[in-house]
Amino acid sequence: MTVTGLLPANEMGATNAHEHLFLRSPALAGQELEDPELAVRELREAAAGGLRSVVEMTPIGCGRRPALMRAASQATGMPIIAASGYHRDAHYPDGHWVHSASVDLLADRIETDLLEGMHPADWLEPSLPLDAARAGVIKAGASYQHISPAEERRLGAAARAARRTGAAVLVHAEVGTCGHEILDVLGGHGLPLDRIILSHMDRNPDPELHVEIAARGAWLEYDTVGRIKYHPDSVLLELIEAVARAGHLDRIMLGLDLGRRAYYRSHGGGPGMSYLLGTFVPRLRRRLGDVATDAILVVNPAAAFALAPPAGGVA
Ligand SMILES: [Zn+2]
Repeated sequence: MTVTGLLPANEMGATNAHEHLFLRSPALAGQELEDPELAVRELREAAAGGLRSVVEMTPIGCGRRPALMRAASQATGMPIIAASGYHRDAHYPDGHWVHSASVDLLADRIETDLLEGMHPADWLEPSLPLDAARAGVIKAGASYQHISPAEERRLGAAARAARRTGAAVLVHAEVGTCGHEILDVLGGHGLPLDRIILSHMDRNPDPELHVEIAARGAWLEYDTVGRIKYHPDSVLLELIEAVARAGHLDRIMLGLDLGRRAYYRSHGGGPGMSYLLGTFVPRLRRRLGDVATDAILVVNPAAAFALAPPAGGVA
């Protein structure tokens, strides 16, 4: 489900599985992404390099702009999958409705985004009409080394909405921690683990841990590509090769997660959205070959982000 409607999964092509075109968070003051012209410029540059689809992972309350995402997709021809769901605690100011909402209200609002249309202002003004764009994936988040009680409620809401809509749940694992615990919570609510994508796992590039997670059936989404302040790309290449050698190539996908102005070429920074196909993927092809690289870029995201048959009911 893209912001311009349903797209057959086998037409997604090379996919950036975690990105931000529009973003505003108290945890990232001064780094707001709100300029539609710069978003279009960045998408065009990435498309020229061979990128075919983008998964925009900005959740409720963090500056989602459904109308601008639709316009950017139409201007560039780039399919964009948008997110519903919620981030970890740090991204909501004190007093935000997300902190105190019941699991039912949290889940209802995700299901509305996915089935009817995204709310244009994240229910800060509940009476506004819904946007024509529907969300296609559910975000959830946990804190560093622990899942707070509020985050656990939001994971429960994400699991309920995922079961009812068939959308995948992509979870922000802070610095790659709490992977097993996140799977335990979502699985405890009846969500099959192959409907869960753990993002940022490469912030903790521990192949033995990742093999354990993949063996449980969940997806690993790596997104430190080009962010050299964390580690050189060679660390990521070694990690991918190790997990693939252990038999889990079919669980890996890649994103950039450029959640700051400083990461965008259009804002005068880097690495920019063109880095994935332009710089990293050629190194991956040389190391793993075309079949494995296309599995990571094309086959795996198509399987993970395709809508599953809704399970219905409440676990
Ligand atoms: Zn992100």
